Amino acid sequence: MSLEEYKGVFIFAQQVDNELSSIALELLGKAKSLAEDLDEKKVTAVLLGSDVKGLVDKLAEYGADRVIVVDDPALKDYRTEPYTHALASVIDEFKPEILLVGATAIGRDLGPRVSSRVHTGLTADCTSLDIGDFPLEPSPVRETKHKQLLMTRPAFGGNTIATIACPDFRPQMATVRPGVMQKIDPIKGAKAEVVEFNPGFEENDCYTEILKIVKEASSVADIQAAKILVSGGRGVGSAENFKILDDLAEALNGTVSCSRAVVDSGWKPKDLQVGQTGKTVRPQLYFAIGISGAIQHVAGMEESDIIIAINKDENAPIFDVADYGVVGDLNKIVPALTKKIKEALAAKN
Ligand SMILES: Cc1cc2nc3c(=O)[nH]c(=O)nc-3n(C[C@H](O)[C@H](O)[C@H](O)COP(=O)(O)OP(=O)(O)OC[C@H]3O[C@@H](n4cnc5c(N)ncnc54)[C@H](O)[C@@H]3O)c2cc1C
Repeated sequence: MSLEEYKGVFIFAQQVDNELSSIALELLGKAKSLAEDLDEKKVTAVLLGSDVKGLVDKLAEYGADRVIVVDDPALKDYRTEPYTHALASVIDEFKPEILLVGATAIGRDLGPRVSSRVHTGLTADCTSLDIGDFPLEPSPVRETKHKQLLMTRPAFGGNTIATIACPDFRPQMATVRPGVMQKIDPIKGAKAEVVEFNPGFEENDCYTEILKIVKEASSVADIQAAKILVSGGRGVGSAENFKILDDLAEALNGTVSCSRAVVDSGWKPKDLQVGQTGKTVRPQLYFAIGISGAIQHVAGMEESDIIIAINKDENAPIFDVADYGVVGDLNKIVPALTKKIKEALAAKN
């Protein structure tokens, strides 16, 4: 493998039912800054699907300079084998230096398959991506390589943060969970160069036949889209006591979320869990109520614009990341806060 042949930052532009997933736009935002650090001019999105060319302009508006489109009926619904064949063929043909994939259900299936097929490494669930020297500290036994993709993620159960690189193989591949990277402000009317590429598909024994697609009917709120989150932890005490958080969320037009301890206790569904094994959120306002602030929780909410913590333990680690902190019993503070907010809103109207 000649590493010099591999150029440019690529992202896998996930679409489902011919609608771009938010992660595709988030990855474009990160790809743009990585490309700048590499003095690369182009960010490339790889769009796989059937009848998907209509999505190109949106990718351009969010930062794609070039879109490689593989449009084929075999790619209509996600299936591991044809998608792996398509993406691995794009890599063989266009030789990206970096390829980012969303850590969605699709990306977690596709990314490792593709990395294995093209014989390179993949770092899963990255929380930060940078360009720099590797090893991070000069080593007498290892040559320092410049302009490497430094992929950072929690390791050993979240007890440490590891920075991983892939200096000897290309592309350098990473998956990133939704909500971790930021989209750029859309550039209205932007256009991308479109390259159509089709490696050809042959239905074979490896191909899964989809008999029926049953969509999950979810009545749970999308906490990643919420601007205000009222998040509760074990300190709330019971499923029933979440009523005081519901009231605060309602007064603020916000959404209730929770820590893993709450999910493990069966008080709230997993879809509402914030953190390393839950969702990464970035609301304008995040209330952490009766949440201790374990590293695995903080990993999912520390990028919130404003964090307000309510905890009876003044030494709780959540206060280290909070912008405002209230030390006291949540059973007294939360209802009083809700009452004040309602009064203030009523006076305003
Ligand atoms: C691999 C791995 C992945 C994990 N992933 C996640 C994850 O995605 N998300 C996540 O949240 N956790 C995750 N965890 C678990 C994490 O380590 C913590 O155990 C968890 O976050 C604790 O939840 P908590 O803060 O609600 O509960 P606790 O740590 O028990 O904290 C409860 C807090 O409530 C306060 N409190 C109690 N009563 C009151 C009261 N009346 N008024 C005010 N404050 C009160 C206490 O002082 C305490 O600080 C993970 C752990 C591992 C090992």
